[in-house]
Amino acid sequence: MKVTTVIGARPQFIKAAAVSKAILDTQGLEEVLIHTGQHFDQNMSDIFFSQLGIPEPKYNLDIHGGGHGQMTGRMLEALEEVFQKEQPDYVMVYGDTNSTIAGALAAKKLHIPLAHVEAGLRSFNMKMPEEINRILTDRISDLLFCPTQTAVDNLTKEGFENLPAKTLLTGDVMYDAALLFGNLAEQLAVDLPTSVGQDKFALLTLHRAENTDSEPRLREIMEAIDEIHNKVMKVVCPLHPRTRNKLKEYGIKPGFTVIDPVGYLEMVQLLKSCSLVLTDSGGLQKEAYFFEKPCVTLRDETEWVELIDHGYNALVGASKETILKTVASSINHSLDFGTQLYGDGQASQKIISAIQASS
Ligand code: UDP
Repeated sequence: MKVTTVIGARPQFIKAAAVSKAILDTQGLEEVLIHTGQHFDQNMSDIFFSQLGIPEPKYNLDIHGGGHGQMTGRMLEALEEVFQKEQPDYVMVYGDTNSTIAGALAAKKLHIPLAHVEAGLRSFNMKMPEEINRILTDRISDLLFCPTQTAVDNLTKEGFENLPAKTLLTGDVMYDAALLFGNLAEQLAVDLPTSVGQDKFALLTLHRAENTDSEPRLREIMEAIDEIHNKVMKVVCPLHPRTRNKLKEYGIKPGFTVIDPVGYLEMVQLLKSCSLVLTDSGGLQKEAYFFEKPCVTLRDETEWVELIDHGYNALVGASKETILKTVASSINHSLDFGTQLYGDGQASQKIISAIQASS
């Protein structure tokens, strides 16, 4: 049986690393990897393949840049050609990027069964490009692998019970990845980046378009982070290239410790060593919980609502006052992380079994 997997962005490399490893250990299942090229820098792409042992993609489409329409359109055209050549039994897509929707559309128009990993997530904010990508991908998928019960419930509310598609609660492949590569980073004794130093620190990531594309919003967040760095604890930020460009464009100079994006093994070491996570990333919110750190989320809504319900994560938007107040209370509050919100670390295995069973 042949599964063709479409990946293209950093979080997809990490998710696919866990699943691809499980596929390699499965008899009778062949995976053909296609890298769309959406993320292409050494530290946004190549490092994940070498560090996490992801097999070399058979195809690299080298498509990046341009607007959403141009990027998605070019991917759609190129993916259709590859699928026609490969004739896979299943196409598998991850998450909510332009690579996801392009892979989904190309597969379905060719009547190839489609599996969506990380199905059912909703922010209910239709201005997010990711929300559009995930809703449309879910609607045309045949197998919907949900990381949480909330994701299953979202699909039920949208009437998926009445569709021929199959919805499955698998747990989150990011939890599989965190367990797997958290251990590997320990075994290899991966060092923290040198500029982190010995002091207590907060780990920051920031790249969502809703924050970077609004100058006043980004300015207010940056002022709050500078103040945390100067008055509360050091802030360390592996800076996403999109944010770096926007800061340059707006003439904003961060007053905290900025480093280049790091590999996943360095990232898990940063997560293990930090005292707090500040982020607008979907993945980081959960990783903060996996590595038992409080999280303050610089967004107005989240797809990972169970973290909020359990008090592990606080949504603060972009208001400086709210960010500072919430950070102060988060670091003075001890949390009990003894719940299992994202499955048992076997999501990849469940996904593979379901694909095999559906052939
Ligand atoms: N990440 C990484 N290096 C970095 C920043 C992030 O390995 O310098 C990882 C992070 O731990 C998480 C994933 O990239 O697993 C999150 O990706 P991102 O925040 O780009 O996307 P999102 O999860 O918001 O879709």
